[in-house]
Amino acid sequence: MHKKDTSQGAQRLRLQRWATGFCTQLIGLLLYLFGQWLGVINTPAWVTWQLAISLIACCGLCLYLLLSQKNLRFSDPGLTELQILLGILWSSQFYFFLPTLRGEVLAVFLPFLFFGAYYFNHWQYARVSLFAFAINAAAVGVSSYLYGNADLRLELYRLVLFAALLTAISIIGSRLSAVRRALRRSQRELEQSNQRIRQQSQLDELTHTFNRRHLDEQLNVLQQKFALHNQVFSVVMLDLDHFKQINDQHGHLVGDDVLKQFAAFVKRHLRESDSASNLSSLARFGGEEFVLLLPKTTEEQALQCANRLLEALQQGALSIEPNTLELSFSAGVAQIESNEAAEQLLLRADLALYQAKQQGRQRCIAASSLTCKA
Ligand code: GH3
Ligand code: MG
Ligand code: MG
Repeated sequence: MHKKDTSQGAQRLRLQRWATGFCTQLIGLLLYLFGQWLGVINTPAWVTWQLAISLIACCGLCLYLLLSQKNLRFSDPGLTELQILLGILWSSQFYFFLPTLRGEVLAVFLPFLFFGAYYFNHWQYARVSLFAFAINAAAVGVSSYLYGNADLRLELYRLVLFAALLTAISIIGSRLSAVRRALRRSQRELEQSNQRIRQQSQLDELTHTFNRRHLDEQLNVLQQKFALHNQVFSVVMLDLDHFKQINDQHGHLVGDDVLKQFAAFVKRHLRESDSASNLSSLARFGGEEFVLLLPKTTEEQALQCANRLLEALQQGALSIEPNTLELSFSAGVAQIESNEAAEQLLLRADLALYQAKQQGRQRCIAASSLTCKA
């Protein structure tokens, strides 16, 4: 059993289906009035009133449930079964009041059963068909008991015909429902695999951090927020120190593993810290260089964050095999400035990173400190 769809779109669709059901019944009533006008139907005026009022009551009840969203409490929020049962109950009045037209009236039941096609399984169809059959048999029984106006053999024959029609419709309808369910299932699977592909297309294969493309997209989003709502953000450009030596001394595969573990360490560290950096994201800029995006973070806060990371790394928070391996990074930190392009921001962070390397590595430098000195 999958989740109920409570979206506005689904509710709109349910209302449309309600309107279809209402129009079907309204057409039934108009045909009845037309029959009266032609003189082929001669029932007292109160029957007409009863038909009209009961139509409003049945459809009104379902409309109320839909508009008040009370339908969402039902296991079938589309109210398909309820609407069909009420529709059958309502049209059984024709069967009752128009004994001479029962053969023709049989046709009035059919649209209600088709209403369930695409939605009902065969059990639901069997239930509804049984109800339709029982209600018609009861209408014939009560009517002939009260008015003695029935040719019982003819009525029996009609009921058999009706039962045959119900069976045929149930089989066709439940097959259509099965097709619809299969379609929905494959549509869901397709959506899931699309989502998986979308996620994969945002990630760097080796480190499972975001890739360059996603970094650019995120930078654009943050830049728009800055332009529209003045929401600042900062970037930290990290580069592992002397990484080439790690490769040279331990081999490229160990180098790969170090990159993976370093990325996981940064993500874990950021997740565990309770600052605004919780919203942050880490992207691989290329090689052994990463960019940390920190929304709602000033340069000062970003610098603190980068320093905390470096300290944690130096204190051995990341234990990497072989044990002799010492890992550190240098970082450049920059906060977005008015009218600044993303490339310019990254360039400033890169210049700060370059300075950190120049000053002996294992340190984080803010881009603003360079501008101040200049
Ligand atoms: P610095 O402190 O100046 O940054 O020195 P460095 O050795 O880290 O920098 P350099 O740019 O000289 O070398 C970077 C090395 O990173 C060279 C390259 O082979 C290695 N590298 C880049 N991408 C990967 C990768 O995906 N896997 C591995 N194992 N190594 C990589
Ligand atoms: Mg490096
Ligand atoms: Mg580098």
